[in-house]
Amino acid sequence: MQMKKLLNFTLISALTIGLIAPSTNYVKADDIDDVKKELNELEDKKSSVKEKQGNISSDKENTEEKIDENLENQDKVSGEMEQIDAELSDTQEKIAAKETQISTTSQEIEQTTSEIEKTEAEITQLKKDIEELKERIAKREELLKNRLVALQENGGDISYLEVLMGAQNFGDFINRATAVNKIMDQDKDIMETHQAEKQELEEKQKQVEEKKKQLEEKQAELESKKQALEQQKQELESLKASLDQKMNEKEQMMENLESEKEELEEYKMSLSEEQAILSKQEATIQKAMEQAQQEQQRLEQLAEEKAREEAERKRKEQEAAKKKASASSSSSNNSSASSSNSSSSSSQASASSNSGRNFIWPAGTRNVTSSFNPNRRHPITGDIRPHTGIDIAQAGTIPIYASASGVVLNASYSSSYGNAVYLTHYIDGQLYTTVYAHLRSFNVSPGQTVKQGQQIGIMGNTGGSTGQHLHFELHIGSWNGSRSNSVDPYPYIR
Ligand SMILES: [Zn+2]
Repeated sequence: MQMKKLLNFTLISALTIGLIAPSTNYVKADDIDDVKKELNELEDKKSSVKEKQGNISSDKENTEEKIDENLENQDKVSGEMEQIDAELSDTQEKIAAKETQISTTSQEIEQTTSEIEKTEAEITQLKKDIEELKERIAKREELLKNRLVALQENGGDISYLEVLMGAQNFGDFINRATAVNKIMDQDKDIMETHQAEKQELEEKQKQVEEKKKQLEEKQAELESKKQALEQQKQELESLKASLDQKMNEKEQMMENLESEKEELEEYKMSLSEEQAILSKQEATIQKAMEQAQQEQQRLEQLAEEKAREEAERKRKEQEAAKKKASASSSSSNNSSASSSNSSSSSSQASASSNSGRNFIWPAGTRNVTSSFNPNRRHPITGDIRPHTGIDIAQAGTIPIYASASGVVLNASYSSSYGNAVYLTHYIDGQLYTTVYAHLRSFNVSPGQTVKQGQQIGIMGNTGGSTGQHLHFELHIGSWNGSRSNSVDPYPYIR
C-alpha cells in the first residue's frame, strides 16, 4: 500500500510539470500539495468504502437472522394449520353423523305421521260403525214399540199389562203371557246384542284414540329431537365456519411470511451484490486513476514531441533565415510566427473548457422517456421511490457506449437492474461512476479499461423493466447501495 501510494505520488507529481494538454479527461493538479490532498481524499474514500462494507456485512447478518425468524414463524403457522385441519375434519365427521341422525329422525317422523293418519281413518270408521249401530238400536226400539202397540190393539183397547190381566182363565193368561214374552225375548236379545256391539265399538274407539294420542306424543318428541339435532348441526356448521376462517387467516399469514421471506432473500441478494461491487471499487478507483495518469502521460509525451518538432522546425527556419540574411540582408518574419503559435494554443484551451461536459450520450438515441427525479412516488403505494437516473428508450438493436473513459467496476445480472455495467471514471481529479442497466447483453468484464464511446453492451429489457430501455445513472464520486451520490446526468452530457 505504501509503495503504491508512493508510485502514485511520483506519477502525479511528474504530471504537474509540463504543458496543459488539450483534453480535460486527465488528472489536473496544480502543485504537490494538491496531489497530496487528492491522495488523502482517496484514502478517505477507501476507508469509507471499508466502513460501508462493514455496515453491509452486519446488515446481511441481520437479514439472515430475520430469514431464520421468518422460517420459524412459517413452521409454527404450518403446525397451527395442521391442527386446524384435524379439527376441521373432526367437525366435518360430526356434521355427517348429525346429518345421518337427522335423516333417521325424519324417517321416524314420517312413519309416525302415516300411523297417525291410519289411526285417524280407523277412528272415523269406528265412529261410522257406532253411528250405524245406534241407528239399528233405534230402529229395533221403534219396532218393539210398534209390536206392543199392535198387541194392545189386537187385545182390544187395553194396555200390555191389561193383555195379561184380561185373561179369561189361567190357561188363557199363560198363552197370552207366553206370546208376549216370546216377542219380548226376541227383541230383547237383538237389542242386547246391539248394545254389546255398541259398547265394544265404543271401547275400541277409546283405545284407538289413546293410541293416536300416544303417536302424537311420540311425534312431538321426534320433532323436538329433530330440532335439537338441527341446532347441534348448526353449531357444528358455525364451528366449521370459524375454523375455515381461522384456516384462511393462517393461509394469509403463511402467504405474507412467504412473500416477506422472498423480500428478505432479495434484499440479502442485493446486499451481496452491493458487497461484491464495493469490494471491487477500491481497486477499480486505483486503476481508473492510473488510466487517467497514463492518458495524461501519453498526451504530454505527444505534446513534448510536438514541441521538439516545433523547436526543430524553428531552428531550421532560423538557420535558413540566417543563411538568407547572410546572402541578402533583409527583414525577418519571426514575430508573426510566434503570434500564430500562441493563437493556436488559446483555441485549444477554449475547446477544452466547453461547459465542462465530460460525458457523451450513452446510447445512439436521445429519446429520454423518464427523467431523473429524487422525489418520484410509486403510482400505487405512494411511497417515495426516487428515480436515480434517466431512461432512454428506442426499439431495435441499440448499442450502448461508455459515456466516458474509465474502468469496468462491475458487469453482472441482478434481479432489479438486469444485465448492468458499472464504470468508474477519474476526470480532472474527480471520481465518477456511471451505471447502464436493463441491457440485453454486455461485452465487458470487471477490471477492464474502456475508452469513451466504446460499445459496452446492447439496450434491453432485463431485470425489473417493462419495456426496452436504458436506465443510465451518474454518481459524483463512488457508487453506494443507497445511490446517494446519484445526480441528474443531463447537465454533464455533451
Ligand atoms: Zn430508470
